[in-house]
Amino acid sequence: MFEKIWKYILDIIYPQNLNCIFCEMPISRSNRYSMCKKCLEKIIFIHNSCDYCGKPTINTSLEVDRPVEKCPYCQGKNFLFDRNISFIEYGDLSKLMVFKLKYSGKTYMAKIIANIMADRLQESNSDLVGRMDIVTYVPLNKKRMEARGFNQAEKIGTYISSLLGLPMVGLVDRVKNTDKLHGLSSQERRRVLKNSFLIKEEMKDLIVNKNILLVDDVFTTGSTVDEMAKVLKLAGAQEVVSLTFLTGKYEKDIDK
Ligand SMILES: [Zn+2]
Ligand SMILES: [Zn+2]
Repeated sequence: MFEKIWKYILDIIYPQNLNCIFCEMPISRSNRYSMCKKCLEKIIFIHNSCDYCGKPTINTSLEVDRPVEKCPYCQGKNFLFDRNISFIEYGDLSKLMVFKLKYSGKTYMAKIIANIMADRLQESNSDLVGRMDIVTYVPLNKKRMEARGFNQAEKIGTYISSLLGLPMVGLVDRVKNTDKLHGLSSQERRRVLKNSFLIKEEMKDLIVNKNILLVDDVFTTGSTVDEMAKVLKLAGAQEVVSLTFLTGKYEKDIDK
């Protein structure tokens, strides 16, 4: 009898009427990432990463107990952002979160993605959060914005800004209609993206000496966030830290 009542009380507190975003197993309402345990275990959270590009690193040497500064991917590269932080490794399951948001209009996914990003950022980089002034996002071009109806990076960024208690400001316009970057090399991406972004006239004064968190969904070669960082730095931004939900290992090709 007592057990029955207790179960009834638990059902009220944690109603089992929500489903895992991947396998649809019932989960409790308090499940912050909306994933069942089995699916959560399949997601690879990035723990050891390059301090510069944020790509996952495996430190196999026992003699080196501090993380290496530049990983093989960013050796010889000079990014204009100060660093990129990514949270989950790009994989068959994790990419579905971004695809469902971008291509199936499942906008609730933005909140789940933002919860993961903000939680982990506060856990591992609270100093960084403390010195940031503004959250902004990578804008979409007009054509894509009209076709999709929303910008996934802006949606994720809006949730992150409220979780971190920072203002969210659209600082940049995308002035070039670039085609999809998928399949292009790092160099080709750079060429296509060149001069794609322009600081909004009314934001020019706001950017000077500010530390900016730049939100996007996927870090592939880094060309997009780097081109954004370029215009922000030229406008006087002090620090530009890119926050991207997913990234792959080194040059592994990524569908975006
Ligand atoms: Zn599941
Ligand atoms: Zn790196």
